Amino acid sequence: MRSLLILILSFYALGRSSAQEMKPEETEVWQPEPEVITPGMNGSAPSDAIILFDGSSFSNWQHEDASSVKWKLEDGAMIAQKGAGDIYTKQKFGSCQIHIEWRTPAEVVGESQGRGNSGIFLQGVYELQVLDSYNNRTYSNGQAGSIYKQTMPLVNASKGPGEWQTYDIIYHAPTFNSGHEYETPPYITVLHNGVLIQDHTKIQGTTPYIGLPKVNQHGKGPLRLQDHNNPTAFRNIWIREL
Ligand code: MG
Repeated sequence: MRSLLILILSFYALGRSSAQEMKPEETEVWQPEPEVITPGMNGSAPSDAIILFDGSSFSNWQHEDASSVKWKLEDGAMIAQKGAGDIYTKQKFGSCQIHIEWRTPAEVVGESQGRGNSGIFLQGVYELQVLDSYNNRTYSNGQAGSIYKQTMPLVNASKGPGEWQTYDIIYHAPTFNSGHEYETPPYITVLHNGVLIQDHTKIQGTTPYIGLPKVNQHGKGPLRLQDHNNPTAFRNIWIREL
């Protein structure tokens, strides 16, 4: 006990003397210097972002077969069209920060998973659920802000039908080992309407409707928006590669 006390005291003294001998400059880092960018305002894109959708055209998007987008363009928003199919960015991404705004229909039709259902697939593979989850009970790991069929959101921060909502996403792409398994799994952090709902959540694999997550090796992938037969709208989509 006594020797332990002496040990603790000597560490304390050592730490103190080295701190006294150091100059303030010795712990200052000047190089490199972070790049200067211009931040956005109220969700608008910062100067170093790639604008994926500014409300004017589908020029950065296509369907899976590379055909032109058959969703509706209306009042600066893109609206999913039943049966038209999912849409994909032409550009592919790895780790990234994403801002995206979405709106479920003002006129409430259907219930549970049938109400304003869409989704945002990171790297085209992992679905962050989009759903009207305002007074609309469904399974918790399938409501808005869930990593579909895996991880429920920390809270339900949903606004009502017909209101614009935001997701701010920080996504870290996985790496794979020689056995095609994750070396590091994908991780996702999500703010829903400014509220933390996924906190560095580990993604376990694919997000199928039926069955367990699977790990399929992939490289960079497109951002993909789901057509789930409901006219859910999107606007102001930008991305920053990390
Ligand atoms: Mg969905």
